[in-house]
Amino acid sequence: MGAPGSGKGTQAELLAERLNFYYFETSKILEEKFNKAKENEFIKADGKKYFLKDEKNLWKTGKLCSPPFVTYLVMEKIKKLYKEGKSLILSGSPRTIYESQKIVPLLKQLYGINNIKVILINITPKETIFRNSHRRICELMRHPVLYSKETKKIKKCPLDGSKLLKRAGLDDPESIKVRLKEYKERTLPLMEHFKKEKLRTKEINGSPPPADVFKNILKAIKI
Ligand SMILES: [Zn+2]
Repeated sequence: MGAPGSGKGTQAELLAERLNFYYFETSKILEEKFNKAKENEFIKADGKKYFLKDEKNLWKTGKLCSPPFVTYLVMEKIKKLYKEGKSLILSGSPRTIYESQKIVPLLKQLYGINNIKVILINITPKETIFRNSHRRICELMRHPVLYSKETKKIKKCPLDGSKLLKRAGLDDPESIKVRLKEYKERTLPLMEHFKKEKLRTKEINGSPPPADVFKNILKAIKI
């Protein structure tokens, strides 16, 4: 868990590689779904229809998609991965209490409560805005490259050599402010919810360089 720009994507990727877990990215699942969307396509969740073009509009302007829509897609994917025997790193999901009330019981049921660990990466709002407006992703695999002294001059993805791009729309300052507000109002209260669900949670300072944050996370998940 973490605000936009906290580096949770980078950390999730590092963890997935180190532990050989599946990196479960909700934003990628959404993006994939939107890119393949047919005219007037919808999914049905909780007895309601959710049209892909409406959801895509929410997402493009930095707002959260409808929780039942996201939850439906996420749960389908989790069940599929579990059947394939995979362990998961979730980044950016659950994002809302609604989503959490559905996803946490599913994860508990499939993987067992003792195998679920929650890490919150903390950074300040100022840092969030700065990092997001300087953030880039690679063209080929959408690897995130956060802005830092070490990365500011890099022109190609360190992992696959493809071009680094800015994400159109999502990383504009206005859009970032909306995402930050959504995060505070809807995502942050989730930590309380996780504690009530008796999940093990831990907060980590996201300000140090990614390699140091990573070491602290590895320590934290051993608890
Ligand atoms: Zn890449």
